[in-house]
Amino acid sequence: MSRGDMDKPLLGHGSTEGDRRIMPASGRTIGVLGSGDFARSLAIRLVCSGFKVVVGSRNPKRKANLFPSAAEVTFQAEAVKKTDIIFVAVFREHYSTLCDLADVLAGKILVDVSNNTEINHHKESNAEYLASLFPACTVVKGFNVVSAWTLQSGARDGNKQVLICSNNQEAKRTVAEIAQVMGFTPVDMGCMSSACEIENIPLRLLPAWKIPIFLALGLFLCFFTYNLIRQVIHPFIREQKNKFYKIPIEVVNTTLPCVSYVMLSLVYLPGVLAACSQLYYGTKYRRFPDWLDQWLQHRKQIGLLSFFCAALHAVYSLCLPMRRSHRYLLIETAVKQAMEKKMNIWVEEEVWRMEIYISVGIIALGLLSLLAITSLPSIANSLNWREFSFIQSSLGFIALVVSTLHTLTYGWSRAFDENQYKFYLPPTYTLTLLVPCTVIIAKVIFSLPCIRHRLLRIRRGWEKGRYVKFVLPSATGEYSSGETSSNV
Ligand code: NAP
Repeated sequence: MSRGDMDKPLLGHGSTEGDRRIMPASGRTIGVLGSGDFARSLAIRLVCSGFKVVVGSRNPKRKANLFPSAAEVTFQAEAVKKTDIIFVAVFREHYSTLCDLADVLAGKILVDVSNNTEINHHKESNAEYLASLFPACTVVKGFNVVSAWTLQSGARDGNKQVLICSNNQEAKRTVAEIAQVMGFTPVDMGCMSSACEIENIPLRLLPAWKIPIFLALGLFLCFFTYNLIRQVIHPFIREQKNKFYKIPIEVVNTTLPCVSYVMLSLVYLPGVLAACSQLYYGTKYRRFPDWLDQWLQHRKQIGLLSFFCAALHAVYSLCLPMRRSHRYLLIETAVKQAMEKKMNIWVEEEVWRMEIYISVGIIALGLLSLLAITSLPSIANSLNWREFSFIQSSLGFIALVVSTLHTLTYGWSRAFDENQYKFYLPPTYTLTLLVPCTVIIAKVIFSLPCIRHRLLRIRRGWEKGRYVKFVLPSATGEYSSGETSSNV
């Protein structure tokens, strides 16, 4: 970025009423210790947000031309004297080299932006370590979850949240105001003991996805082994036929829909279990077991993985006729039929089965795509609660029913054909039907008026065996209140 560009505001500031209210934060002088990537991006953003910036460097002459001309670059001690709020943009290992500044730093707010290279790398968080080195200062942890790139490119392009914690409320409020003027959303994470957690956040690799990914891999492994035994090992042992060529595409392609279908049902199964628990205990105020809580929280990721497997299944299926093995088998069948002088090979039932099977599959994939798209935060935020719950709950359930029809038309009558039981193992599709059909039956039972009514009452706060205050409209339209046993 050129020096000229660095002076141009990235965000228009002070344009809204809300911004103007917090303007007192902007216009004040902010110090930045360090002249590295983060310090530079921070200084640019602060200047663009209307702050005066003074950068403290060990070598100001050499570093000055890296910063916008509006920022003053000077020696560390000089910079610290000019401001009460200082962002410490140096690595933890170098904190001790700042100890010479302890006297000038006394009474000031230090913002610790540092990250570690490993989760729980040190016994105490970097912010706590900084506070121990400078007991006369007030340390606030913040901005470490924002990258130098996000600072430069603008909060609109990156994650807007800035997590902040400190033992001093006033200092925390000041830093939160600065974050807000810079276009970020400050999130109060409480006192300094949260610093460790905040420092671990940028190092976590897809924390919400671990359980769903392991679940998907586990299911894939089970179904893949099962299909391998049925489609490859069985013909090899029983008929000495080499069908190992089927492994990369056919076996994978019969495994993917199984995983997708079962995963989709696992999105709706915890809701069924939660409803059963509420009906059994007659209250919604009883905590679910931890495993069920976790499961409920991971439904979005499980659903997205289901969509991912379904999309792969669609692509694999489209590629099936492109394979050389497929063409050989097609020609071989045609030659056999010609030699046997079979002219009409049209099987009406098979034709219909295939037409319905593919059509229902396409509809299921379309519905899954809709569920996946609306689970993206930017889309989900544009929907109101009713729209979101209609798509995710009602359309999701319809997607499960349509996927069940897709599976049933695929299997057709194979479950009743004894030749399909390889090594006495039933066809894979019959196994995949177990959980989804349980969910569908449970949902149908829950929609029966007597159960639905009880569940709705429980979800509105009614409890079994509790006396509750009730409010009834009188004949005149006025409301009278009283107490009654709610399970009467
Ligand atoms: P960097 O480019 O290596 O800059 C570190 C700066 O520290 C140097 O430019 C140096 O500036 C200063 N410093 C002060 N005392 C030092 C010493 N004794 N030895 C070496 N350098 C010393 O690192 P950075 O990427 O800007 O990161 C700075 C801090 O921000 C780190 O704590 C990092 O965890 C945090 N952070 C960075 C990012 C990012 O995207 N880069 C994101 C979040 C948090 P002078 O030579 O001018 O004194």
